[in-house]
Amino acid sequence: MVDLVSQYEHIQEEIDAAMLNVVRSAAYIRGAELSAFEEELASYLGVEHVISCGNGTDALQIALMALGLNAGDEIITTSFTFIATVEVISLLGLTPVMVDVEPGTFNIDPSKIEEAITEKTKVILPVHLYGQCADLDKIMDIAERHNLYVIEDTAQAISADYTFADGSTKKAGTIGNIGCTSFFPSKNLGCFGDGGAMFTNDDDLASQMRMIANHGMKVRYYHEVIGVNSRLDNLQAAVLRIKLQRLDDYREARNTVATHYDAAFDGVSQLETPERNLNSTHAFHQYTLKCKGIERNALRDYLAEHEIPSMIYYPVPLHQQKAFEVTGKEQKSLPVTEELSEQVISLPIHTEMDDEQLERITTCVLDFINSQ
Ligand SMILES: *Cc1c(COP(=O)(O)O)cnc(C)c1O
Repeated sequence: MVDLVSQYEHIQEEIDAAMLNVVRSAAYIRGAELSAFEEELASYLGVEHVISCGNGTDALQIALMALGLNAGDEIITTSFTFIATVEVISLLGLTPVMVDVEPGTFNIDPSKIEEAITEKTKVILPVHLYGQCADLDKIMDIAERHNLYVIEDTAQAISADYTFADGSTKKAGTIGNIGCTSFFPSKNLGCFGDGGAMFTNDDDLASQMRMIANHGMKVRYYHEVIGVNSRLDNLQAAVLRIKLQRLDDYREARNTVATHYDAAFDGVSQLETPERNLNSTHAFHQYTLKCKGIERNALRDYLAEHEIPSMIYYPVPLHQQKAFEVTGKEQKSLPVTEELSEQVISLPIHTEMDDEQLERITTCVLDFINSQ
């Protein structure tokens, strides 16, 4: 699905030198590389604070912990996402309230949010799925009117730009109170292991999150709150500093692949190409088709027989997972989410794809369609 070896080979000299530099310095934790990376990412995003942590799941957990919520408080989010989004809500004794998504963009349907709000609702947690922002104009408006926090799960959408109705543009993850991302290797800004970060323009939330990520202490061995141990190390920061310089180029490369797929599948009635939210650019973490009137799993098997990888993100919506059988709140059925989980298929997309590979993939998909 991604080619991390080729990507590394293109920047190998720079990466090797930077990593060796960290190894020789023996500053592995909380060193200059880390501070430099946090500052450079903050400047790229146009946000006041970047607080790094151990992974994207921790980022979401620390963000929720920083809001001072009470057990049973409700968090409105979606079911059509990676488990991490909802897992941390339950883990903290909060109550996930999963609402349906839009069939075109796969993102939270703003028209379903208000009917889910109760006096216990404290947070709206949109996921910018596959690399494209949810409808933040509407989400921010609802949040303001109901006095709710917004935490953006931007693990798949770092580098995407959102343009508001008033014409102003901001980076994904810098619009709500807190944005959370992941530097998992296959993410759009990936390191060589685990990593994550929170973004915010709020000084108090920033210092709270820094404290929570560091065992609840500001001054060493004086613990103000129960925190966690979650940090990005300097080797990862050194890698990320180099990749951050290329993040926009990487996004362009992914968009070129998406445009090629769009053109190849244009007019094929059995495949629906991904709809664009006109207010958001797309980081194309995934290129995801919807299958109409063909067996999605048969297409997947056919591709596998021809050694073409594909993935289903996600085959079982979270509200139907065994782990969420007891969420503390009766979960309504989510017809759009349930249908999508049977229709979607994601094709390989990464920064190193060439025309020959693309041709082979699209030809194979179209061969399957024509054989039906
Ligand atoms: C990857 C991902 C996460 C979790 O990130 P990790 O670094 O793997 O913990 C959370 N939410 C979404 C939408 C993701 O894709």
